[in-house]
This record gives sequence, structure tokens and C-alpha cells, in this order.
Amino acid sequence: MSAQTPSSGPLVGGPHDPEHDPTASYALEPEYVAALTDRLVATSGSVEVRSPLNGQPLAHIPQSSEADIDEAFRRARAAQAAWSRTSIDTRAAALLRLHDLVLDRQSEIIDLICLESGKARKHAFDEPLHIALTARYYGRTAHQHLDSKRVRGVFPALTRVEVNRIAKGVVGIISPWNYPFTMALCDGLPALLAGNAVVAKPDAQTMLSALYAAQLLEDAGFPRDLWQVVSGPGPEVGPALVARADYICFTGSTATGRTVAQGCAERLIGCSLELGGKNPLLVLRDADLEKAAEGAVRAAFSNAGQLCVSMERMFVADQVYDRFMERFVARTQAMTLGATLDWGNDMGSLISQAQLDTVVAHVDDAVAQGARVLTGGRARPDLGPFFYEPTILEGVTPSMTCFGKETFGPVIAAYRFSDEADAIARANDGEYGLNASIYSQDGPRARAMARLISCGTVNINEAFAATFASLEAPMGGMRQSGVGRRQGSEGVLRFTETQSVATQRATRLAPSLGMSDATYAKVMTANLRLLKKLGRA
Ligand code: NAD
Repeated sequence: MSAQTPSSGPLVGGPHDPEHDPTASYALEPEYVAALTDRLVATSGSVEVRSPLNGQPLAHIPQSSEADIDEAFRRARAAQAAWSRTSIDTRAAALLRLHDLVLDRQSEIIDLICLESGKARKHAFDEPLHIALTARYYGRTAHQHLDSKRVRGVFPALTRVEVNRIAKGVVGIISPWNYPFTMALCDGLPALLAGNAVVAKPDAQTMLSALYAAQLLEDAGFPRDLWQVVSGPGPEVGPALVARADYICFTGSTATGRTVAQGCAERLIGCSLELGGKNPLLVLRDADLEKAAEGAVRAAFSNAGQLCVSMERMFVADQVYDRFMERFVARTQAMTLGATLDWGNDMGSLISQAQLDTVVAHVDDAVAQGARVLTGGRARPDLGPFFYEPTILEGVTPSMTCFGKETFGPVIAAYRFSDEADAIARANDGEYGLNASIYSQDGPRARAMARLISCGTVNINEAFAATFASLEAPMGGMRQSGVGRRQGSEGVLRFTETQSVATQRATRLAPSLGMSDATYAKVMTANLRLLKKLGRA
């Protein structure tokens, strides 16, 4: 395939040109698409995918049948048996090669992401960036997580115990469309490092980015069969993965996550679930208002708000509300929207008609019930079929849909607060607990406040990127926003089983040398008292 070609290679037409007519075709060379889809185990017809940038056909994606999914698991299991016997160094070295490849080929990766998802180039760049960070972190820290560890035995010196980390086997990864490259890969990298194989089911809209990711893995030196990709409708192929995998890693909506968890419970396999959010941003009275306004724009409108950790609720201290909102609205109004592949756009398109319908419904409902639109509030079909302006609402009340339901679009509601305890309570309101952001110049006070917020990540003086890009820190949701964590040690250990191996020397854990059970009990009792006195754990 032409994976090594420069970014504009596979593109037919001129979408890199900022003056490019958005209604023109953004086609990919058929051979290029065929080389990517050739990686699929899929023999059951094909489905057309269109680019959200202009609604034009982009690719035909072959679909996986039940038998294809069986075959994908068969290949993955065979590859995993050999892979799990390779050294940690071998696996880590492949991750570090992947790091370099992703940076080298970022332009081509970003083109694919933009074409499939419609996002702005600057937001697409976050994806290769996050994968490079993930590959480097796990490549460099592999031994720290996965080496067998000696732990203390019941009798110091007499019982030698080590804890091994054994790969789960084949991990099923079900991923969404919003970050099609990073969500396809970021969980799988630690899964491979731990000695697993992967069967991936990316979202139907964004298969090419995920297939390109699979090609990159092979180019980095991972065995081809170790990473299988299957395609098809989520409600069919998703459960097929749940029925066959040894562990499921799911990213998507809370509703689907609950279904996935039920399937995993039925088979008694583990799962991690990265789900939705209704994330709060707090601007305290001592915030740097310029920084807060700049951060709020990224917080609310990155990837047109289709980001699990983006902000849809904003609580601003009374004392600074007017001055902050003036800055935030002005910055939002200055944003440029466009359907080109250059770096010039501040925001791109929504992914689909369904996503646009949700955004329109949430805003129209709020306005009909008395909310005020400070800026935005309109679809922009002149730019592309699913464009919607970045929108700031005021006066949102609990009866409005967007008060508590995730919009997953470029819409944020602003609220005033006069009491910080009340702001924290309102930030914690609702079912979600994914990400929060606090703007304040008083670090210790903001960190103390963070502990009171029921979210898996809290970013101080940053929207979401500080935690997301800090790979050593676990990332995931509390409450209905998820189960388990990606990143950090937890992000790799979830893909392992622990195995404890104890070797008993000299004595045994039972009466010896004709000792009666009663004497044994007395000796053991005395031993335990002694061990506690000696300060042993
Ligand atoms: P979704 O739940 O509809 O789909 C996610 C994935 O699940 C897709 O691959 C889909 O095909 C598949 N799927 C659909 N039905 C399934 C079923 N019955 N069984 C198994 N798999 C099935 O979510 P979406 O609308 O594509 O994505 C947006 C949602 O994802 C938002 O709620 C967003 O907050 C969340 N999300 C969370 C994170 C995170 O890290 N917490 C990241 C990205 C997106």
C-alpha cells in the first residue's frame, strides 16, 4: 500500500487548498482504499462511507460475517500464543518504533482522520500526538509494570513468593468515531505490550483511520495477525466480540457501555468502559480571565464538542462573570469554521446527520424554553452538510434537555455562582463523572477543590489536555462515566491476570514432626504475635 506516500498522495482533488470548493470531491485513490480494507476479515458485501466534510462518497468498506469474526479470533489466538512468549524488550522496542512511524506519517494520518470525521486539522493532530505519547510511555516503562515482582511470603525467608503478570489472551476493542485513530489504538498498545492479541471493531464511519493504524503496527514490527480488524454494525459485531474475547475494552456511550458490561458479566470476563460525560468547567473569582477564556474555547469546541472530556457546563464566579463572558463570547465569535484540510480552521464539521439532529434538538429545546443564545445557535449548511456554529447558552434550566444530557456537540451552557460550595455541588450534579476543569490562580485552593469533585480527571488551568497527555496518570470516569482506567499502570495491568507463585522452603504450613494440631495452633499463634511485634505486614 502507499502508506509511505506524502500526505497528498492518496487524495484526489485539492482539499489542502484553503480556497478549495467544499462541494468538490474528496476522493481517495481506489487502490489506496483497497490496500487498507484488505486488512479486514470481511467477506459479506460492503457499505459506502461518505465524508462529513462534503457528504461525498469516500470508500466502500467490506463487512464481516459471523464466520469472518470467528476467523479473526482464530488468527489472533494463534498469533497471541507466539507473541506472549516474546520478551518484554521485544514488545517495548516495537512500541518505540511505532512512536517514530506515527510522527513521521502524521500528515497522512491526519488527512484520513479529517476526511472520515470532518474535524479540523488542528484537532486531528491531537490523535497522532496522543498515540506517540502512549507508545513512548509504555515502551519506556514496560518493565516497571510487567516484570514479575517478589513479595513477602507468610514466613519471611521460608516462603518465597513472586507475582507474575500473565496476558489475558485476545482483547476485544470496541471504539467510537470521535477520535478514530487514537481510540482505535491507545488501549491496544498496552494490551499488546502485555502479550495479548487484539480484535478491534472500530466505528463503521471511521474504519480507514483504524485500518491505517493496523498497518502502522505491522510496519513497526508487530506480527500482522496479532491485530485483527472486523467491521459491521455495532449492535451485531460488538456483541460478537463480547461473546469471543477474553477481555473487552469499550469506549462509547454510557447506554451501549451498560449493554457491553452485561454481556461481559454473562461470560465472567473483565471489561473497562470509557463512557460519556457532562463535564463542568469552573472559573473562580481569582482566575486569569484571558487564560480561562482561551481554555474555555478549547474545552467546549475542540472537535466541535464531540469529545468525551469536553465541557458542556460552565460555572463562573459572580464577581468575574461579565468580564469573563465578554472575553469568551468574543473569542468564540472569532473562530473560523471550514471544510478544508489545511491548518486554517478553528473548528470542523460534526460527524453525521444524527449528531447534527441531536445538537439542533438540544439548542432548539433550550431556546423554546427560554434559554438565551449568546453566540452561535445555527447550522451552517453553506460550509458542509453537518456544520453547526460554536454555541454559548445562558439561562439553561433543569427542564431543558441540554441541562443534564450529553449533547456531544459545540454547545456550552454558562451559569453564575456566588458560593464555591454551591458551585461544587452543581458540578457534581447528574449521573456523569468524567472530567472537570478549574481556572484559578490559587493552585493549592484549586487542588483542594478538585478533591471534592466527583470526576476521574480534573484539570487546573487547562481544559482536558493536561491529564489526557500525562500518560503516567490514569484516565477514566467515576459514576456513569466508566469503569476502569486507561493510561498509567492501571491502563496496562487491566490486560493481565496476576499469578502468584509461592515456593515453601524448610518448613511447611501444617503440623510437622508429630506435632499435634493443638500444639501447631499454639506455635502459629505465638508466631503471628511475634511477627506483628516485629512490625511485619
Ligand atoms: P456508541 O456507544 O453508539 O458506539 C461506540 C461503539 O460501540 C461503536 O463502535 C459502535 O459501533 C459500538 N456499538 C454500538 N452498539 C453496540 C452494542 N450493542 N454492543 C457493542 N458495541 C456496540 O457511542 P458513539 O455515539 O459512537 O460515541 C459517542 C459516545 O462515546 C459519547 O457518549 C462519548 O462521551 C463517548 N466517548 C467516551 C470516551 C471516553 O474515553 N470516556 C471517548 C470517546 C467517546
